[in-house]
Amino acid sequence: TPSRKPLMAGNWKMNNNHLEAIALVQKMAFALKEADYDAVDIAVIPPFTAIRSVQTLVDADRLGIQYGAQDVSQHASGAYTGEISASMLAKLKCSYAVVGHSERRQYHAETDEIVNAKARAALAADISPILCVGEGLDVRKAGGQVAHVLAQLDGGLAKIPADQVRRTVIAYEPVWAIGTGETATPKDAQEVCAAIRTRLAELYDGGSADEVRILYGGSVKGGNIAAIMAQDDVDGALVGGASLDPGEFVKICRYRD
Ligand code: PEP
Repeated sequence: TPSRKPLMAGNWKMNNNHLEAIALVQKMAFALKEADYDAVDIAVIPPFTAIRSVQTLVDADRLGIQYGAQDVSQHASGAYTGEISASMLAKLKCSYAVVGHSERRQYHAETDEIVNAKARAALAADISPILCVGEGLDVRKAGGQVAHVLAQLDGGLAKIPADQVRRTVIAYEPVWAIGTGETATPKDAQEVCAAIRTRLAELYDGGSADEVRILYGGSVKGGNIAAIMAQDDVDGALVGGASLDPGEFVKICRYRD
């Protein structure tokens, strides 16, 4: 059986200034033990303005907490006011960059083509993209979730070679389950995550497909994570709301207990 280390990533969205970020990471660090870091990769995804503070704290205390950014520019540098490049994030030792979160697809009109360019920009800077895919409620009601997600996957992974896809993380986040308190059933999550892995094997090869971590996201909490993690093709979670509460997030990281 493949040995994918689970990843629990906390997407803070537009919450926590850099001082609040330090306080939250300190609370997490106080609660987390060596065994937690051994069992799962634990990452925080703060707003850009807090990344430097998180880096300083992680470095100073030699914390096992990883961190990343919520977005990254598709461009390398230049006249793109307001954008942040992958090399800037790499300089801050970011391990991850979320690309194609449904909120960015919805509010910033990000297409699969843009999401793909962002994923490639991250990979070129040795940052693992967390490529988000997921269907809306209308698609789910019509039973079109697998086709919808696989189309997003194909578009998002275009021109990414096998050696790089292995470092890519896929996050299946049904839009109707994000921030709604509505969770996909473990069976629903497994259906789509398994379809994603099968497609990865078709696009690349079985070995690559076995290495890629596929996360579930959508109202994950301490109380529902264990059942979701029990599914064969779910390798972790992208956690929004619950990642703002250190106690809850640590509970999620300790889903095996
Ligand atoms: C997310 O935004 O990635 C997410 C899963 O949010 P929540 O956990 O709040 O549903």
